[in-house]
Amino acid sequence: MNILVLPGDGIGPEIVDQAVEIIKILSPDFKLNYGLIGGAAYDAHSDPFPSDTLDKALSADSVLLGAVGDWKYDKLPRDKRPERGLLRIRTALNLFANLRPAILYPQLAEASTLKPEIVSGLDILIVRELTGDIYFGQPRGIEKNNHGEREGINTMRYSESEIRRIGHVAFKMAQLRGKKLCSVDKANVLEATELWREVMTDLSSHYPDVDLSHMYVDNAAMQLIREPKQFDVMVTGNIFGDILSDEASMLTGSIGMLPSASLDENQKGLYEPSHGSAPDIAGKDIANPIATILSVAMMYKYTFNEINKAEKIEKAVGKVLNDGYRTLDIMSKGCKQIGCKQMGELILRNIINE
Ligand code: NAD
Repeated sequence: MNILVLPGDGIGPEIVDQAVEIIKILSPDFKLNYGLIGGAAYDAHSDPFPSDTLDKALSADSVLLGAVGDWKYDKLPRDKRPERGLLRIRTALNLFANLRPAILYPQLAEASTLKPEIVSGLDILIVRELTGDIYFGQPRGIEKNNHGEREGINTMRYSESEIRRIGHVAFKMAQLRGKKLCSVDKANVLEATELWREVMTDLSSHYPDVDLSHMYVDNAAMQLIREPKQFDVMVTGNIFGDILSDEASMLTGSIGMLPSASLDENQKGLYEPSHGSAPDIAGKDIANPIATILSVAMMYKYTFNEINKAEKIEKAVGKVLNDGYRTLDIMSKGCKQIGCKQMGELILRNIINE
């Protein structure tokens, strides 16, 4: 297997280094290839997603990414900014299914802004459609209307095949977990999501073991705060998923803990932490590498189908937290504060000693 490693910017290289050590131990036969993306790629090639990176990504079995971005690039034209590199790699690899778990290790229940009893043991998976919806629908733009006034236009569009494709992913994920799937839409107001609901309902006949429910997005946003543990897997479109997955991730109170995967139809994936490049703490050895390490666990689970290796990683993370080790972002009273490198080393040691 061939993994493309894209460390990116800010804390990206530090956190990716720790994750790579784990891959080397668990899969010494995997080939690791490195490439540039984001600001690092712009600095070297004046392009945040150079053709060399595209070629490597197309031929890789899987991609591990750190994060992109730095405030120093904010004045560049939009197509040169680091974040554009991320959008381009997602499009180039046709990564239509974004999986974002929101898991709260019981050891970190105090880190959430919600009461510990509401969130302790939380384990939700949000499946977000990533290549359609109002973010890509045409027509779009800013135009003058008949009264000579400027009007901003975006179009929410979903075809049946797009909905079916993400629906299958979500039902299959639910089968692997608690067999409960909540489809989130706004079918009472938006025709695009009325179709979404119809297609999800039709699909459910293929998955009789999964309990499908529907929820309007405004209610879903509320229920995530009121009683988040009622959810197992949630599936939704691009814009609703963007908002709900950020909301769900913050229930856990620790952005440094949350992995993500973006998959194509053949389970090839781009794996990355949910957080950004954190330029404010880059190079100080204080970043939390766990989100990136758990992204590697997702890679084993979804692309390589090696569940035992994924579980080994997850167990090792749990053990290090149980032993009271914390990076600064999840530090609490009575625990031992350690840096990014030491956190990676401790998790690795637990994997080796298991
Ligand atoms: P951010 O996620 O980088 O940081 C938000 C806050 O969380 C900061 O205080 C940061 O120090 C902290 N943080 C983030 N990851 C952490 C970790 N692993 N350990 C400890 N603390 C951590 O978001 P931001 O500050 O809004 O954006 C910074 C840059 O990242 C911007 O250029 C933005 O465009 C980019 N960004 C990239 C991605 C991505 O690569 N997927 C996602 C979001 C933002």
